[in-house]
Amino acid sequence: MYRREFLRSAATLVAASALPLGTPAPEKPRIAVTMDDPSTILGRNISWREANRNILDALEKWSLKAALFVCGMRVDSAQGKELLGQWDDAGHLVCSHSYSHFNFNAAKTTYDDFAADFERNEPLIKSYRRFTRLFRYPSLKEGDTAEKRDQFRAQLKQRGYAVGHVTIDASDWYVDDRMNARLEKQPAASTEPYGDYLVAHLLDRAAFYRQLALDVLGHEIPHTLLLHHKMINALYLEDVISAFSDKGWQWIDARRAFDDPVFKRQPQTLPAGESLVWALAKETGRFDDRLRYPGEDDSYEKPKMDALGL
Ligand SMILES: [Zn+2]
Repeated sequence: MYRREFLRSAATLVAASALPLGTPAPEKPRIAVTMDDPSTILGRNISWREANRNILDALEKWSLKAALFVCGMRVDSAQGKELLGQWDDAGHLVCSHSYSHFNFNAAKTTYDDFAADFERNEPLIKSYRRFTRLFRYPSLKEGDTAEKRDQFRAQLKQRGYAVGHVTIDASDWYVDDRMNARLEKQPAASTEPYGDYLVAHLLDRAAFYRQLALDVLGHEIPHTLLLHHKMINALYLEDVISAFSDKGWQWIDARRAFDDPVFKRQPQTLPAGESLVWALAKETGRFDDRLRYPGEDDSYEKPKMDALGL
């Protein structure tokens, strides 16, 4: 015991002395789980109850509190209430993601329609103990005109909501689509390669947005990872969490992440939206060589998954 403690402190001394004098120890990047679009329909390969249990168990195992962004139309039922109740009971934040998932950047989506749809969602979530006034824009689209963008931002403020920004955007939903398409054709196919792809994809996107945030802001920020309530995460969320931990990321509760002042920023970009880090970078005009639009999409993953035969 003594020997082990001595060795540990000796190792700490060696590690500390390897840094030049005056250099602060490198800060561990922090990250929180945020999950969108809880649903009682996840396809024929898994029941929502099993999926939900797996996801909640993975979070529980790591003592993590996530933020759940609820799109009302997917849980507007007795089973939907049961699903949300399970998240609420487990202590996760219950937040809004609109009722109908309208794309606010579509010209046909008017401010009035979008604002009414936002209001329509609140009755489904406001009675939960962990109801939190955080709003996540569907598909991270914050408006195609300055009028729509600014009018809805003002409405959110007036209604006491903050934006539940994503900093690390990704396409987990597409990996799930591909996995389910494979299972349709080959019910006995292994899902593991899809889990491996998911982990690698999320680590890659996290490294990209972390570096971009460092370059734009000059310091670390707590990150919010976008995941969806899908079968792929029911199977592999635990692998995702441990892979990030192995890579040096520190998992934190979503509430702690959203407390950071960076989440109050309102980038003046058009079309507005994407990852908060993407939008802050875009706003500077200095990172266009690193910014694609949209920030993430299935079209970026399709050729890679095709090449892997997934
Ligand atoms: Zn969504």
